[in-house]
Amino acid sequence: MRTQSATVPGSPDHPNEDYAATAVPAAGRGGALVVLDGVTAPAGPTGCGHGVAWFAARLGGTLLELAGSRREASLTECLALAISRTADAHRPTCDLSHPRTPQSTVVCARWDDAAVEYLVLSDSALLVEAPDGTVRTVLDHRLDDLRPAARRLPPGERAAFIEGMRNAPGGFFTAAADPAAAELAVTGAVTRDQARSLAAVTDGLGRWVETFRLGGWPELFAALAGRGPGAAIAEVRAAAAADPDGAAFPRGKAHDDATAVLVEL
Ligand SMILES: [Zn+2]
Repeated sequence: MRTQSATVPGSPDHPNEDYAATAVPAAGRGGALVVLDGVTAPAGPTGCGHGVAWFAARLGGTLLELAGSRREASLTECLALAISRTADAHRPTCDLSHPRTPQSTVVCARWDDAAVEYLVLSDSALLVEAPDGTVRTVLDHRLDDLRPAARRLPPGERAAFIEGMRNAPGGFFTAAADPAAAELAVTGAVTRDQARSLAAVTDGLGRWVETFRLGGWPELFAALAGRGPGAAIAEVRAAAAADPDGAAFPRGKAHDDATAVLVEL
């Protein structure tokens, strides 16, 4: 087994709010990976004095510990408990009911000799490569599914519409302070012989596919496996630098934190 990871902040002036970790072996066999993308808070109060980077490190570290040590618990149960523990860590000092309480996307996978289990919540991606080279993409589509409705609104109202659907019925869901969000994650499993490698990426690198269209998800997987996570992130940065104003490739932020973990099983 071999793991590689890389992360690059979106801006040198802002903390990197992504989180990535692997446990190999986990509980003596197999392993686990966790990749989170902390949601950058808008300017103004969030009810929390800790910040998004603190939250991502706390939630990610707790989830890795639970996924790696509690084989009897499902990944959904591990995430729910990790959200609860993280909430407990700042409930005494912070207003966790604030809609912009720190929150993040989640990708978690766990494997042993028999199976690979996975969980994806919000817009980070997991790629599963089969022994024949086929790449399957595991995505939570809820946020993307809202974009057609947003595009039918006047441009000035689109961001507020999306924001209003955050952790709301019929909307999209992140890991924040409510453990019930874990139940809404996309989950599944494949037998171990159906998976040769795994990759988890935050949307800062997902832009390689979805914004800059350097290729599809299988091509991104090939870039990660062939040139490495650091090189794939550099390719996104180069594409962004070539279109600094977003004229050719419209996008919200000029740069976003970008992270990838590759596990060759
Ligand atoms: Zn806090």
